[in-house]
Amino acid sequence: MLRRTKILATLGPATDKPGVLEGLFDAGVDVVRMNFSHGSAEDHIARANEIRELGKKTGRRVGILADLQGPKIRIARFKDTKVFLNEGQDFALDINFDPLLGDNTQVGITYEPLALEVKPGSRLLLDDGRIVLDVVNVENMRVNCTVVVGGDLSNNKGINLLGGGLSAAALTEKDKEDIKTIAIMGCDYVAISFPRCAEDLNEARRLLEAAGCHAGIVSKVERAEAIVDPVMDEIILASDAVMVARGDLGVEIGDANLPAIQKKLIKRTRELNRVAITATQMMESMIENPIPTRAEVFDVANAIYDGTDVIMLSAETASGNHPIKAVEAMHRICIEAEKQPIVRVSDHRINIQFERDDEAIAMSAMYLANHTKIKGIVALTESGSTPLWMSRISSGIPIFAFSSVEETLGKVTLFRGVFPIYFKLEETQDHAEVNRSVVKELRKWNIAKDGDKFIITKGDLTGVKGGTNALKVVVVGQGLTP
Ligand code: PGA
Ligand code: MN
Repeated sequence: MLRRTKILATLGPATDKPGVLEGLFDAGVDVVRMNFSHGSAEDHIARANEIRELGKKTGRRVGILADLQGPKIRIARFKDTKVFLNEGQDFALDINFDPLLGDNTQVGITYEPLALEVKPGSRLLLDDGRIVLDVVNVENMRVNCTVVVGGDLSNNKGINLLGGGLSAAALTEKDKEDIKTIAIMGCDYVAISFPRCAEDLNEARRLLEAAGCHAGIVSKVERAEAIVDPVMDEIILASDAVMVARGDLGVEIGDANLPAIQKKLIKRTRELNRVAITATQMMESMIENPIPTRAEVFDVANAIYDGTDVIMLSAETASGNHPIKAVEAMHRICIEAEKQPIVRVSDHRINIQFERDDEAIAMSAMYLANHTKIKGIVALTESGSTPLWMSRISSGIPIFAFSSVEETLGKVTLFRGVFPIYFKLEETQDHAEVNRSVVKELRKWNIAKDGDKFIITKGDLTGVKGGTNALKVVVVGQGLTP
């Protein structure tokens, strides 16, 4: 059985070890994430080249997602790498303090306006919420705090403000430099960290296009202000994919609010014809252990029931002890979760009038597929829109995106239930000829055998965007299909 939910694995030192990338390919990884918070431009370019090489060798189109660091606000460094903070003690964050000489009374920070954006009573969460500080007052540019939850605190840990509200723009100078590297590297998606609003994403898209990069935009929803109305919808609409970035978001809104927000974000993202990614700590214990906890098994399955397109691995693959096993574990959980009837039926847009014929064809194909005995759907596609619309409908039927456009094959790697297949058609307008070539290709991949019924969607003219206007049902080995 083909797995529909896509697995996105973060690369890092653990995947640089010999044989590990090959192992991830064998285990079925769909997309890899290059995390620009770590590593040099050369590292990322080398990894991207390796992914392409492996793609050629195995015939599997694995997508590449470049994740920009964004304005993660951090403390500077300590004289002795780390300090221990006791509950109730004073501790200050100071932009003017030497960034290398922090101690257990004060430390430098990297974010100028912090002192202007907090007030007495503001709660700051450091190191993903492990350390909690309450602001007592602000003196000049120095933020004086009381430690509410103490513990170890080490160099460069992140700072979040409970409830959000820090104004940092989503694209930093470093991100703008990295965009140039990404354009050279060539990748299918670029993730924008900490966007506040749609304009942050529009700006990123403009910069990418100016650099000659047509990657899809992934917005990482990790700020409290990104999930209020109407900003949430605006952010979704300005994106190609939306990540439920549970790490930072959980710190800003409180962990208990995450499950409801995950459901809402995924549902709304799919309704607005965008792709949903669920990220962070899905298999956290596998950083150390070869098997996941029961709770992690449930988390992955529940994200699938919520309708996510993609499930992401972070440190589990980037720096964990069992990167391949983590992908294998996700795979087997997906296969079982996807058998449940709840993820195969749909009332999505059942009462809607469609404005476009290509969209109506896509919807009709899914209705047909879900209500008759169909082995698979083949969408001949230039832009990838048809398989995107199709995959917004829950279904158990695989959708094969046939395209000769490399960019489109890369985009569909994130779509739930859609499988990219390179397909180049000689110029022809003869529909029977096209159907025959499609069936031949399906046989080549062992997807079709005699008697199998497939749906093919296509346009009159091959090579034209938005031209899908036909839906054909073919039976392999019968009629005009060999
Ligand atoms: P990160 O983003 O892994 O880049 O921090 C994801 C998250 O915050 O959950
Ligand atoms: Mn984050």
